[in-house]
Amino acid sequence: MLSKKRIEMMRSRLSNKSIVIIVLILIIAVILLMYFLCKPYGKTSTLLESAHNFKIIDYPTPNFDPDSTNEVLGVVLHHTAEPTAENALKILSSPEKKVGTHVVIDTDGTRYIMAQPTVVTYHAGYSVLNGREGCNYFTIGIEFQGNTLEDPLTENQIESGIEYLLPIIKAYNISLTNIVTHQMIRTAYKEKHPESRCSGKVDITQTEYKRFMNRLHIKLSELENYVVGE
Ligand SMILES: [Zn+2]
Repeated sequence: MLSKKRIEMMRSRLSNKSIVIIVLILIIAVILLMYFLCKPYGKTSTLLESAHNFKIIDYPTPNFDPDSTNEVLGVVLHHTAEPTAENALKILSSPEKKVGTHVVIDTDGTRYIMAQPTVVTYHAGYSVLNGREGCNYFTIGIEFQGNTLEDPLTENQIESGIEYLLPIIKAYNISLTNIVTHQMIRTAYKEKHPESRCSGKVDITQTEYKRFMNRLHIKLSELENYVVGE
């Protein structure tokens, strides 16, 4: 027969055990609750964290206008039409060539930053956007390594380009309709000046432009409460 005292001890041990189990269940419940509550924020932070997915290298160009400030109203997409990014960077930083850009995006997504958005670089030449000439003074230039007439943009180039653009679109409230191609602003110039004998531009192809813009729209719609100027 068990003594009364022993039974008492067993009872208290049992109740201690129950308390421990209840506490454990509560802790697990709280953890699960926090996990589900934080899930949407987790998604957003993943999108923002992806801002550091690609290598970023400073490669300043001397080909800019030191007397002007870029209004940053739009973006012009180009392709380099050079065999390698190194070739393109050499040209875009050669004082004799007098051409520049804000960023070169290599096929692996590496971004070579050649100028900050407020800098006026020489990427557009003869150009018209929304009836206004001299796009260098109010747009930034993105040069995708390669030739879109021969090869499409790589996935890494699209991802890296969007990653580069998102904070700029937000900071300067850039209208998506002001994100255009070199071909579009040169064609507009030639339409405005039919007498002009300046060369036409082929970069970037409309197919690749549409592909890039579709992806940009999708990314923007994924970002909750993201407001972009129309
Ligand atoms: Zn171009």
